[in-house]
Amino acid sequence: MSEAFVDVPIAQPVDYYTDMSGFEAAMLDQETVVTPEGTKYRGEEARLGYLGSLLATGFDADPDAHHEMIEQVAAIGYPVDNFKNFVRRPNDKKENQYTLASWGIGTENYGEFSVYELFDRQIPEERLGTLAHESAHANTPLNPNNAHLFGGEAERLEAVGFIIAVADQSLATNKMLNGYHDYLALQYKQRLADPSGLEGIDYRTFVEETSAILSQLALTNRAKIEQIQEQQHKVWDDIARASRAQGKPEPAPKVQLLSQPDHMGVVKPAGIDKTLLRLLDMPAETRGMAGYDRLMAHISGLKARFYQDDTLQVANGRFEAQNAEVITRNAVFLHIITEMAMRDAMAKAEKDENEAKKKKSLVYA
Ligand SMILES: [Zn+2]
Repeated sequence: MSEAFVDVPIAQPVDYYTDMSGFEAAMLDQETVVTPEGTKYRGEEARLGYLGSLLATGFDADPDAHHEMIEQVAAIGYPVDNFKNFVRRPNDKKENQYTLASWGIGTENYGEFSVYELFDRQIPEERLGTLAHESAHANTPLNPNNAHLFGGEAERLEAVGFIIAVADQSLATNKMLNGYHDYLALQYKQRLADPSGLEGIDYRTFVEETSAILSQLALTNRAKIEQIQEQQHKVWDDIARASRAQGKPEPAPKVQLLSQPDHMGVVKPAGIDKTLLRLLDMPAETRGMAGYDRLMAHISGLKARFYQDDTLQVANGRFEAQNAEVITRNAVFLHIITEMAMRDAMAKAEKDENEAKKKKSLVYA
C-alpha cells in the first residue's frame, strides 16, 4: 500500500452552482459536472496509442488477446495515465485460482494491469465488466494523486464521500451489490472480529472494492444496481423507523446509487454517474440531463461495439463450455446428495423394518 493510500479524508459539500448564473441554475435545477482536466491522453485514439506503447508480458501466444484488451480499455474511456504495463498470468496458485484480473499486486500498485487465463474464458459482456472494474481501480478516488483525473480535489473528495456512504449503507443494510461484494463484506466482518487485525480485509479495501464494483455495474448492469438500491433503502427506512421509536438519533440520509428521474421526469446525474461523468472522456457538454443522456449513449455504444453478433456466437460457445462444466460439477454434487439421500432412505427403511419386526414379535410373543 503506497503512502498516498493511508488516509481517507471525508468529503466536504461542494457548491456546484458557482460557475453558473443564478438564472441558469434555477432553470436547470441541475448540477454542473466538471470534465476531467489534467488527463494526458484525451480521445480514444490517444489512449489506444499510449496503451499500445506499454510493455505487455505473457501475450506472445495470443497477440489478439492483448489488442482486444487495450482496445476495450481505450473505448471504456477512463483516463489511462496510471497504466504502466500489462501482464498475462496463469491461474496457477491457490490464491489466484479464481482471479480474472488485477490492478497491481496485492495492495501494492505500480501501474501494473494483469489479466489471468480465466479472463479469456469470460464472455464479452463479462470481459468488458472486468476491464471496467480494473479501470475503476486504476482511477480510484481514494488516491489523492488522482485528483487531476476527477477535475480537481473537491471533485475527488466528493467521489470519496459518496463511495464511503455506499459502503456504509451496504454494510448497515447487509444488502450487497453482488456475490463478490458479499464475499468482501464477510472478509471485512472477519477483520472486525479478529483481535490480531490480520484476518480478512480492512475498511479501506472494502470501500475501494465497493467503488470498483459499483462503477462496473453502472456500465454493464444498471438494473442490478436499481434492484439492490431498492432493497437497501427499504432496510434503511426500517432502521430509521426503529431509531425514531427508540428515541435514538436518525441514521445518515439514504444514499442514491444512480441517477433517477425526478417527479417531472428530469434526470439529474447522481450517485456513481457523477463520478463516471467526471472520469469518462465525454464530450464537453456533460451538464445536467445532457450529461446523463451522453452517458447512456456511451454505454449503449460500448455494448453495441463489444457485444456484436459474431463475438456473441463465440461467447455463447464459451458460455456453453463453461455451462457444461457447471453442469458436470452440479451433477457430481447431485450424485453425492442422491447417494446421501439413498443412504438415509435405506437406513430409515432398515430401521422401520426392525421396528416392524419388533412390533410383530411383540404381537406374537
Ligand atoms: Zn477489485
